[in-house]
Amino acid sequence: MITLALSKGRIFDETLPLLEKAGVRPLEHPEHSRRLIIGTSSPGLRVLIVRASDVPTYVQYGAADLGVAGKDVLLEHGGAGLYQPLDLGIAVCRMAVAVPRDFDYANAVRKGARLRVATKYMQTAREHFAAKGVHVDLIKLYGSMELAPLVGLADAIVDLVSSGNTLRANRLRVVEEITPISARLIVNQAALKLKRAAVQPMLDAFSHAAASHA
Ligand code: ATP
Ligand code: MG
Repeated sequence: MITLALSKGRIFDETLPLLEKAGVRPLEHPEHSRRLIIGTSSPGLRVLIVRASDVPTYVQYGAADLGVAGKDVLLEHGGAGLYQPLDLGIAVCRMAVAVPRDFDYANAVRKGARLRVATKYMQTAREHFAAKGVHVDLIKLYGSMELAPLVGLADAIVDLVSSGNTLRANRLRVVEEITPISARLIVNQAALKLKRAAVQPMLDAFSHAAASHA
């Protein structure tokens, strides 16, 4: 049995067509079922439904052999115990620094001001500002980062941006791109060795599906 960890929402929905191309159909949809372990049309493959940020943990410890996780989540996790063979080209967005429209970010940085930055992505934010030599106080949030600068909790945020509509709606603008983001297939390193006969065909199927998807 091969176990694939997915999160519901975007990751599940965008992985579905790739699974379909591989001839695999989950027997239930997580939006319509409370089940956290879902069988598939392929008797040797089941799907676990976990939080997006928990996908690397399930795969790292071998509770799942494979998973689909955003690069944002993998940067925070660090990737220990994971093999990351494939960029699936789904859930595409970018990690960026954003500030209120009327905040002079360049000037604040030039003056060496200490910036307050709210984010869910502490590791990525810490590394980004350290590399630039900008002093920051990071404030950990779990969602709705756009709110923080509007109510004086932070000067800036580090968040994912796709269309930019949420930023615009909250009078924020991007001042720096940190890194492009997309979802990756991740594989437990031990499973790849010990279950290669079962895991490799899934890797090949994903690789094929992702290539024709692009
Ligand atoms: P949770 O809801 O459990 O806190 P989450 O908000 O990270 O987790 P999703 O919003 O489903 O869950 O995001 C899952 C992944 O999709 C993210 O890790 C990221 O890689 C990608 N993603 C997030 N926002 C966007 C976006 N606006 N456009 C494209 N991809 C995105
Ligand atoms: Mg979300």
